[in-house]
Formats: sequence, structure tokens, C-alpha cells
Amino acid sequence: MELYNNIEKIREQFPALTQRVNNRELVYFDNGATAQKPVGVINLLNEMNSGVNGNIHRAVHELSARSTILYEGARDAVKLFINAGDRGEIIFTSGTTASINLVANSYTSTFINKGDIILLTEAEHHSNLVPWQMACSRSGAELRFLPVDEQGNWRMDLLDELLDKRVKLVSAAHISNVLGIINPVKQLIDKAHSAGAKVLIDGAQGIVHTEVDVKELDCDFYVFSGHKLYGPTGTGILYGKRNLLEEMVPWMGGGDMVGSVSLEKFSFAELPLKFEAGTPNFIGAAALGEAIKFVKSIDKGFAEKHEKEIISFITRELSKIDGIRMYGLGENKISLFSFNIEGIHPSDLAILLNKMGVAVRSGMMCCEPLMSRYGVTGMVRASLAVYNTMKEAEIFIESIKRGVRMLS
Ligand code: PLP
Repeated sequence: MELYNNIEKIREQFPALTQRVNNRELVYFDNGATAQKPVGVINLLNEMNSGVNGNIHRAVHELSARSTILYEGARDAVKLFINAGDRGEIIFTSGTTASINLVANSYTSTFINKGDIILLTEAEHHSNLVPWQMACSRSGAELRFLPVDEQGNWRMDLLDELLDKRVKLVSAAHISNVLGIINPVKQLIDKAHSAGAKVLIDGAQGIVHTEVDVKELDCDFYVFSGHKLYGPTGTGILYGKRNLLEEMVPWMGGGDMVGSVSLEKFSFAELPLKFEAGTPNFIGAAALGEAIKFVKSIDKGFAEKHEKEIISFITRELSKIDGIRMYGLGENKISLFSFNIEGIHPSDLAILLNKMGVAVRSGMMCCEPLMSRYGVTGMVRASLAVYNTMKEAEIFIESIKRGVRMLS
């Protein structure tokens, strides 16, 4: 397969990038929220919606058979992509949030009891916090938090102390959506396992910016969303180790997740269908397979070098701005930059950037406790993807300088 090592060729695949916003060429730097879609994904969505639309698994007719092949083919693509042991370990969900909620319901109802502890970090997205708060109020378990330091790094020096025998589950982000640091998840997983705890990794950002090998990581669960990985919204993955998924009781019942059903009782279907009650987003899931094809078509060496150059340019230029405070500093960072500029409200700056065609995120970024940790009510965040260029990075920096002049 020919690998793409040319930014123009990559951009050609993304029709959304050619649009103008507020009469300017769009600079889309909100990829941490959702990424644009390549033509392979768009075409498959169109093809299925306009033709290959038969409900999966259920019928003997041609359209159902074709949908089923595409859906199950995407499952195989995900399995290979993250190096899972078998296809039964890949559960389709509607996204990271749904995957975490699935585990927070099914795993905790089977394995977590009153007095147990679930360990998170203080930098988690609300999606990796609130489901555990809900699980604790149901089970009587308690939450405990690994702090981050001023730079945004996990306080690994505190981990041994926090990981006592009461900790049964650890759930943490591979990469924080605010700090952009690639966290030492392998170290966390090994230490948690030594302490007898299972580990869920929230890979919403991690799957996009690192190569994920769940066997090598040895995580018990790894979850991510399709839409941040150039795939469709409403798609996501829960990877779980087979032995755990086998023992977990599904939290949703309905069609497709059953073996046999009588008026009084039912038996579960085999994995993975046991956790896929009802009609899934089979068209979206199939198109997630296309997104993975796109990701695999990028020359990794090229993408890494390109990302490093942009990171060093943006870091250098941002740090020259008077009154800037950047969050998430360190060597092991992705192209995601959160910051505040003294005296300027983050949303005011984001609104002005939008007027200049530059799309960034502002606000709490679904991480209110982390905002409190830094004593702020919001930040500006620029998050880049593989199709963003150095020219766009220059426009971004110039636009910030202009915005700051206008707001000062
Ligand atoms: N976790 C992290 C680290 C995220 O960045 C996000 C989304 O921004 C989520 C969880 C939630 O993902 P979704 O809204 O796709 O379910």
C-alpha cells in the first residue's frame, strides 16, 4: 500500500478543510473535540445510507448480508489496529463516554463492593469521572485521585501510596484532552496490576496520537471514540480482556445480545454481541473501519516529524506572548496547546479567532475539576491533527497576536 508522506495529498482527502469561514480560509484547530472526515469515510457512509442499508445479523437477504460483512469487517480492522487477542474483545459502542459507562455499570455491578476504591486522576474528562461517581453512589465504593503537578504530569511519586489493597480499579486518560501529555500508562498499569487492581485506559485522545497495542500495554480495558479518529460520530470501541468481559453482566438488554429467550428468562449471546443490545450504529461502525484504513495509510515517520516541527514552532511562539500561561508542559506532548493570557477571557479570544477563520476550543473542556486545580474558569485550546500545516500554525499565532492587541 502506498503511504502518504505529503501534507497536500493528505488534505485532498478532507473536503471540509477547503471551506471558508468568515471569509477566511478555515484553520481547523479543534480536532481534540472532533476531527474532520476523509472521503473514504464519507463515501462509505453515503453508499450504505443510500443502498447497503439492511439491519445486521438478522436477515438472510442481500442487504443485511452486505451490512453484516461491513460491520464485522470493521470489528476485525479495529482488532488488528489495537492488536487485541480476538474479535470477541472488541465491542462497538456509541463513543468513549458510552464505553466507560458500560464498564462503570457492568464491571462495578459484578466486581466492585462497598468500601472498595476506584482510583482516577485529577485530570480526567467528565466522561471518565461522572460515570464512576454514579457507580460509587450505587455500590458504596469510594473515589480516590492521583494528583497532577503544576506542569500537568501525573504525580507518580504518590502512586505506590495511593494503590493500597482497597483499590480495585484504576481509570485514567492515555492523554488528557486539556494537557496533551502522553501519560506513563504502561507504568500505571504495571503498578496497578501488582497491587491487584484492574485498569481502564481512556484512549479518546491517545488512539489518535500514539500507536496503541493493548497486548503490550496489558490494560484490562481500552476505550475510544470514532469521531476523533477521522471516523463518524456515534461510534466508539470498548476493548476488554476476554476473561473479564465473559464474567461481566451486561447493563443493557434487548435484541442481538441474547442466546435464547423465554417469557421468564434469557441467556446471553457470545461475545462481543453480549454487550451490543439493539440495533447498533452499523453504518457508522463500518465507516470507522474506513477511518482506520485512512490512519494506516499515513507514513508514521512523516507524521511524527511533521507533528514535532509544529509542536516546537507553536510552543516557542506561544511562549513569547506576554502574560501567557500554558498548561501541560513537557517533552512527551502531542500537538495540543491549552493556555490563558493574562487579562483576557478565553472565550473572547476564541470568538475573535473564529472571526479570523481559526477554530479553537475555549471554556472548561469538560474538565471542571482540573480548571479548579489551576484556579481558572476556562482556557483556550488549540488541538491539531495530521492534516494541519505549518502555514496554519503561523496564521494561528498571528491571529492570537492580533486578538490580544484588540482585547488589551
Ligand atoms: N475522554 C477524553 C480524554 C476526551 O477527550 C473525550 C472527548 O473530548 C472524552 C473522554 C469523551 O468522548 P466522547 O464525547 O466522544 O464520548
